[in-house]
Parts: sequence; structure tokens; C-alpha cells
Amino acid sequence: AQERYHSIRDKPAVTRCGARIDLSMNAGLMADLPSLESSGAEGVGLFRTELQFLVRNKMPQRTELAALYSRVLDAAHGKRVVFRTLDIGSDKVLPYMKPNDEPNPALGWRAIRVGLDKPGVMRMQLQALMRAAKGRPLTIMFPFVAQYDEYLAARAEVDKTIAREKRLGHVLPATLEIGAMLETPSLAYAPEKFFQEVEFISIGGNDLKQFFFAADRENERVRRRYDTLNVSFLNFLEQIVERCARSNTPLSFCGEDAGRPIEALCLAAIGIRSLSMRPASIGPVKSLLLRSNLVELRAVMDGVRERGEPSVRSAVMDYLRAQV
Ligand code: PEP
Ligand code: MG
Repeated sequence: AQERYHSIRDKPAVTRCGARIDLSMNAGLMADLPSLESSGAEGVGLFRTELQFLVRNKMPQRTELAALYSRVLDAAHGKRVVFRTLDIGSDKVLPYMKPNDEPNPALGWRAIRVGLDKPGVMRMQLQALMRAAKGRPLTIMFPFVAQYDEYLAARAEVDKTIAREKRLGHVLPATLEIGAMLETPSLAYAPEKFFQEVEFISIGGNDLKQFFFAADRENERVRRRYDTLNVSFLNFLEQIVERCARSNTPLSFCGEDAGRPIEALCLAAIGIRSLSMRPASIGPVKSLLLRSNLVELRAVMDGVRERGEPSVRSAVMDYLRAQV
């Protein structure tokens, strides 16, 4: 399938109406990195760091992690890699950590909540990332930030790590970019200051959708009940786009929906200009974007909104079918 899209691999994703969409890939293993070249991704928009913690029976050492992150940066050949700090809890339980008995793990003690309450692991990981980057640009993203003060606290940990590394005489990253994942509806309503201070935002659509509709992403009975192209959800996403535009905050979307061509197209139509997805999805998504006119599509979507239908999907599909 990759071969089918070979001819467009090095083409930027520019729509017929002139919108340029950045297409990056999601990764989580060293073995994913060769796809950066073969898929034509512009960078790694989400590097999930859980796997190295999940595959062993004890906590990985800082030196091991630093070596791995350094190899990831080597393999990226200067393309941007967004490292997401450890997102454990919920569905991802470390075998060597005492399981905490929670009635609702997805709403429980997970991700940055663990990182801030028990900062040892987060500090170790931040140090490993800085040592890996030494002298190179570094991009770090915190998962599951629900409110502004969590972002500030995480940032303070980064600042502390920098000061410590300096004191120890280590070479620091050339540049440092710190962002947050928007995965809970609350963060969309954070104070203006948050949007001004955060260096970028990435929408974690898998979690955001589950919390928006109160529909468990792991529960087969409800997870497909609400369409991502539901008008209410798109309205909500568009508010995030507008807030980011006002504060000039770079915004991307890295949930699974970014890799589904119709969904990706609609996300672009509401103004999202950066999508991160499985490498194999880049070809199909780009191919559709290249043939599309977002202005026309937007008018189709607005028509659905006015008619009060729940989802734009069938109208968008009809419109696309009429194109060919
Ligand atoms: C998401 O929630 O959309 C996301 C990208 O994070 P994960 O799937 O790892 O929870
Ligand atoms: Mg998530």
C-alpha cells in the first residue's frame, strides 16, 4: 500500500484551495523510525514513551532511556520528534508498580497526575530526554493536562531539571519546546494565560472524544455510538481552533481519527493544520487532501449544522462521491 502512494510521498499536503496541512506520524518504538522516511511524514507528532516502561519487569534506568531517546533523535535526522512523557494508569498498568484499585481507571490516577504526585519517575524521564538531546532541539509534551496549574507544575519540573543539568555540567538541548495534550474538555476552557504560555497543543482525540460523549473508548457497546463527525463534537473542536488562533498557539491533532481520511479532511476543514497518525495512514490521507477543496467542504458541513442533523458524515460522503 505504501507503494501506491510513493509518487506523492515527497509532496507537501496542499489542498486545492491552497491550505497546507502538516502530516506527521505517531510512534512508540525504535522500529517505527524508518517509517519517517518511507511514509514522507514531516516529523513524529507523537512519540508514546510507555512501551519501554511496559515491556520490562522493572523500572528502566535513566541511562537506558537516554540512549534510546538519543537513537530516536539520530534516526529522525533533524525532523521534529514530540516526546510525550509517561502516560500510565488507566489501560496502561506497569507490572512493577502497585496496582491501585480504582473503580474508574480512565478517570483516575493516570498520566500527568501520577507524574506530578510522584515526581521521581517524571524527573528521571525529563533528565533522560535532556541528556539524549544534548545540543539538539528537544520537544516535550505532557499528557492528560486537565487544567492550567498542572501545566505550570510540569513546566516547573522541566525548569528544575534544566537547572540541575546545568549544575552537573551537562550540555543542554539547543532549544526546548513544551506542549500539552488537550484530552479533557476542561482544558479547552482554561484561562487565556494558558493558551498564551503553552508552546503548542495537541488534541488527543481518543481520550477527548471519550470524555466529551462520556463513552468509554474501550467499551465495544458504546465506543462507536457517537461519530467523531458529530456536529456537537466538531463545534467543540472548532472552539479550540479559535482559541489557539487568537493566542497564536500551534495546534495539532494526534488521535486515531487523524489517520482516517474523511475524518482528517473534516478536521482540516474546521481549521486544524497539523495531523499526526499511524505511518500507513499518511498516504491515503494526503491523497484525499490533495484532491480536496476545504472551502467547499466547509459549506457542506455548515449546511448539515443548519439542518440540525447529528453528523456531517453522510453529507460529506455524498459530496465526495459527486466529485469523482
Ligand atoms: C489520545 O488520547 O488521542 C492519544 C493520542 O493518546 P493515547 O491514545 O495514547 O491515550
Ligand atoms: Mg490519550
